[in-house]
Amino acid sequence: MEVRVLFSAYLILDRDIMSKIIKPFQKVLLQKRLCVGCTNSLDKAKKLGKLSERRELVECKCKRRYVYNKELNEYQRASFQEEQQFLKELNKKPVL
Ligand SMILES: [Zn+2]
Repeated sequence: MEVRVLFSAYLILDRDIMSKIIKPFQKVLLQKRLCVGCTNSLDKAKKLGKLSERRELVECKCKRRYVYNKELNEYQRASFQEEQQFLKELNKKPVL
């Protein structure tokens, strides 16, 4: 019983530590313009379209989506809202 409690406590702790390790690591990958999932170059990612004058939505081979900020010349993970915004824009324009 005690062992089981200790073990689940260990798992929770471990997950917390993992996210603390993974987040800075993802940041470094993005700074290097690499996908945090598959480490492919984001400069080669497929451009899905513009979110605004300075921001472009791109999609990696592994389907992860990122926002490229032209002004800052850097990539960020696309938020759910940004993906939704993009989909809304798509529906407005006729598909060519
Ligand atoms: Zn990827």
